Amino acid sequence: MAQKPLSDLERKKSISLRKIPLVDNVVGVKDSFNRHLHFTLIKDRIVATNRDYFTALCHTVRDNLTEKWIRTQRDYYEKDPKRVYYLSMEYYMGRSLGNTMVNLGIEGECDEALYQLGLDIEELEDNEVDAGLGNGGLGRLAACFLDSLATQGYAAYGYGIRYEYGIFTQTINDKGEQVEIPDHWLEHGNHWEKERPEYLLPVHFYGRLESDDKGYHYKWVDTDTVFAMPYDVPIPGYMNNTVNTMRLWTAKAKKGFDLNYFQGGDYIGAVLDRNNAENISRVLYPNDNFFVGKELRLKQEYFLVSATLQDIVRRYKTSQYGSRNLVRTDFTNFPDKVAIQLNDTHPSLAIPELMRVFMDVEDLSWDEAWKIVTKTFAYTNHTVLPEALERWSCNMLEKILPRHLVIIYEINSRHLKNIERLYPGDMDRIRRMSLVEEGYDKRINMAHLCIVACYAVNGVAAIHSEIIKDSIFKDFYEVWPKKFQNKTNGVTPRRWLLVCNPILSDLICDKLGEDWIVDLSQLRRLEPFIKERRFTEDFIKAKQQNKDKLARYIKSTYGIDVNSSSMFDCQFKRIHEYKRQLMNILYVIVLYNRIKANPNAEFVPRTVLIGGKAAPGYTTAKEIIKLINCVAKVVNNDPIIGDRLKIVFVENYIVSLAQKIIPAADLSQQISLAGTEASGTGNMKFMLNGALTIGTLDGANVEMCEEVGEENMFIFGMKVEDVDKLGKIGYNPRDYYERIPEVKKAIDQILKGYFTPQEKDAFDHLIVKHLLDNDRFYVLADFEAYVEAQEKASELFKNPTIWYKKAILNVAAAGKFSSDRTIRQYADEIWNVKPTRKIWSPTKTIQK
Ligand SMILES: *Cc1c(COP(=O)(O)O)cnc(C)c1O
Repeated sequence: MAQKPLSDLERKKSISLRKIPLVDNVVGVKDSFNRHLHFTLIKDRIVATNRDYFTALCHTVRDNLTEKWIRTQRDYYEKDPKRVYYLSMEYYMGRSLGNTMVNLGIEGECDEALYQLGLDIEELEDNEVDAGLGNGGLGRLAACFLDSLATQGYAAYGYGIRYEYGIFTQTINDKGEQVEIPDHWLEHGNHWEKERPEYLLPVHFYGRLESDDKGYHYKWVDTDTVFAMPYDVPIPGYMNNTVNTMRLWTAKAKKGFDLNYFQGGDYIGAVLDRNNAENISRVLYPNDNFFVGKELRLKQEYFLVSATLQDIVRRYKTSQYGSRNLVRTDFTNFPDKVAIQLNDTHPSLAIPELMRVFMDVEDLSWDEAWKIVTKTFAYTNHTVLPEALERWSCNMLEKILPRHLVIIYEINSRHLKNIERLYPGDMDRIRRMSLVEEGYDKRINMAHLCIVACYAVNGVAAIHSEIIKDSIFKDFYEVWPKKFQNKTNGVTPRRWLLVCNPILSDLICDKLGEDWIVDLSQLRRLEPFIKERRFTEDFIKAKQQNKDKLARYIKSTYGIDVNSSSMFDCQFKRIHEYKRQLMNILYVIVLYNRIKANPNAEFVPRTVLIGGKAAPGYTTAKEIIKLINCVAKVVNNDPIIGDRLKIVFVENYIVSLAQKIIPAADLSQQISLAGTEASGTGNMKFMLNGALTIGTLDGANVEMCEEVGEENMFIFGMKVEDVDKLGKIGYNPRDYYERIPEVKKAIDQILKGYFTPQEKDAFDHLIVKHLLDNDRFYVLADFEAYVEAQEKASELFKNPTIWYKKAILNVAAAGKFSSDRTIRQYADEIWNVKPTRKIWSPTKTIQK
C-alpha cells in the first residue's frame, strides 16, 4: 500500500515532539506529579486532598500517554490502512488509571515515586469513579475489545455516546430493596477525555421529505438540528507504544439558538430550550437484555449513528482513496478501507443512514449505494430472548426519521421480491422474513434489517451461533448460510488478571515468564505444575490472600464478618430471571434448613456472595434482590448457623468491584437456563482467576467445559434439547413443588413470611406468579440437579489440595477466552484487516 511521504513541515513538526520529557522513571514521575499538583491543581501538600493527589497522578500518567497517542494517530494517517469502526451504545470501561499505568509499563515507577512521596497508590486509585457507560456483558465486551484492538495494533476506533449519567448507583434500603441513585460520574471531571469542540457535527430529526426526481433521491427538509460534539478517550495497548481512540459524542443545542424565539422576544425560552436538545446524551438506558421502544432511545441510537458515519465518510474522503480533488468522491473502494461492526442492533440505523448519505448527499444510485453498504457492515447478535429484540414502531420512525423509514421499506420490498423468487408462493415464509411486522402497531424488526444488509452475522459463543441458525434466524440461514459465523467472546487478560490479581499474576510470571499477557494460550504450560507441591501451595496462598483482602473489604463496608476459610461462592451479574438467581437463593434456604434440622452434622462452610443490578422497571428482578436480602438477614443473625453459612448481597456491582471480587472467588455460579445466555463473560473472568464453575451447558460454559474437561467443573441440568422437549410435553412447576420436600418447605417459608415477619405477603407475586404458576426459566425443573452439583462442590472443598489443583487446571485452560483471540478472529474472518502496529513481546525490544 502506498505510503504518503512526509513534507518538510511535517518532518519538522515530528522532531519537535521528541523534545517533550518522558515520564517513565521515578524522578520524572515525581517531578511531573509535583508540577501538576502545583500548576494544574494549584495546591501544595498542606491543603491537598487524596483526590488532588489522584488527579495529579492521572495528569502525570496522561503526559506519558499523549505522545504515543499523537504518534499512533499520525502513523494511521500516513499508512492509511483499512480502519475498523466498532459502533456500540455502551462502553463499560470502569476505571482507567491502574490499567493505563500497567499498559504503559510505568506502574512500578509510579508506585515507587508515590511511596517516596509518602502516598499509597492503591488508596489514591480508589478515588477514581467508574466510567459506567454500560449495563453489563455487552458494554464490558466493547471495552475489552478496545483493549485487545490496541494491544494487537489494529487501526480501530470505538464510537459511542458520552452519557452524562451512566448506569445508576445501586443502594439497598433497610427493607432490603434496591434504590437507584443517579450516576453523576463527571462531577469531579474526567481526566481521560479531550473535548473537541472544533469538530461539531449536525444531526437531524423530524422534518419532511421532498422528492427531487423520479428516482430514489429525496431532500429531507425542515428538520430539527442537534449538534454532536466529540470527546476523545485514549485507549493504550499493552506495551506497544500504541494508543487508539474511543470517540464519544455529546449532544449540543444548535449554535446561535433558535431565531424564531428571538423574533418573539423569548430570550429565556431560547436559552432553556437548549436543555431539551441536549437531553439526547443525558442518560444511559439501564435495561439489560430488554427492549424499551422509547422516542429518546431511538434518538440516541440515531445520534450515535449519524455523527459517526459523518466522521467515517470524512476520514475516507481525506485518505488518498477518497481523492478529495474530485468533485464527486469515488466510493467504490469504501469497503476496502472501512469495516463497521454493529454491537447488537442498537446502531443498526447506520444501514439506512449510509444509504441516505450515499444517495441524497453523495448522489449515488440505489444500486451503487447498496453494493457498497452490503460490503461494509457486520452484525453481532447478543441474545435470543424475544423481549430483548429491537422492533421499532413505524409510526415513531416516520415522525422522527421519515427518510430512513422510506429507505427501510425499499430495502424490504427488494428483499421480499428476492425471497418470493427463491420460494415462489411461500407466503408464510415471506411474512416471517419481512423487515416489517404487520399488526395494530406496525414495527421494523431491526435484526432482520441487519441480516439482510450485513455481509457477516455472528453469535457470541458456539452454542449460541448454532441456536440462532436453527431457531430465530433459520429462514435467513437457509438463504445466506455463509453469512453466519461464530465469534466466541473473550475478556482482556490485562484488566481481568494482570491488573486485578497481581498476586496470581506474579506467580504465573515466575513459572511462565510474561508471554501469557499477550498470548493467553501460554497458560496451558501451567498444567504440569499441579504436580509440584510448592506451586500448589503458593497458588492456595495467593487465593487465600485475595480472600482475606475481600473479607476485610466486606467487614469495612458492610460490617459483616465472613469466615475467609469458608468457600467463597459467587454469583455476580445483572439480576434477571433467565440468570436464575432465584435458584441460588432457594438452595441457600435449603442449606439453612439442613443446618437447623441437624445442627451438629458436618457442614462445609460457605460464604454466598451475590451481586447485580435490576433494571429499575423490572419488578420481578427487584423482588429477587429483596428476597436475597431478607434471607440473608435471617440466616446471618441466627446463632445456630454461626459462621458456617453467610449470605452477603454485595451492593452496586460495577467493574471496579468485579476486580476486587473475582480474584477471591472459589466457586463461580453460571446457572442460566440452557439456551438463554448467549455467551456470558463473567464466567470467563472467574475461570481465569482460579474459580471452579458450577454451571449449565449454556453459552460459553460449553466451551469452557471442552477446554478444561467436565471433571474440573460442576456441570448440571437440562441441555437445550431437554428444555425444548420439556416445553413441548408441558411443564408444571407445581409438580416439582409437591414432589420435592425441601423445595416445598423453602417455598412455604417464603410464602408464610418466615423471612419477612413484618410483611408476610412480600413475595407472593414473585413466588406464585413467577415460580409456581409460570416458571418461565425452569428453575424448579433444574433444581434437583443443581442441589446434586452443589453437594459435589461441597464434598470436593473438604479437600483443598484437590480443589485447588482443579482451580489451577481452570486457569491453565482459560487461554481461549482472551479477547485477543476473539479480536484476531474478527479481524481475519470478518473485517479482513491486518495489524498496523506491533505487538509487545518480552524477548524482543519494543518498537520505535
Ligand atoms: C463481566 C461483567 C458483567 C457480565 O457478567 P455476566 O456474568 O457475563 O452476565 C456484568 N457486569 C460487570 C461489572 C462485569 O464486569
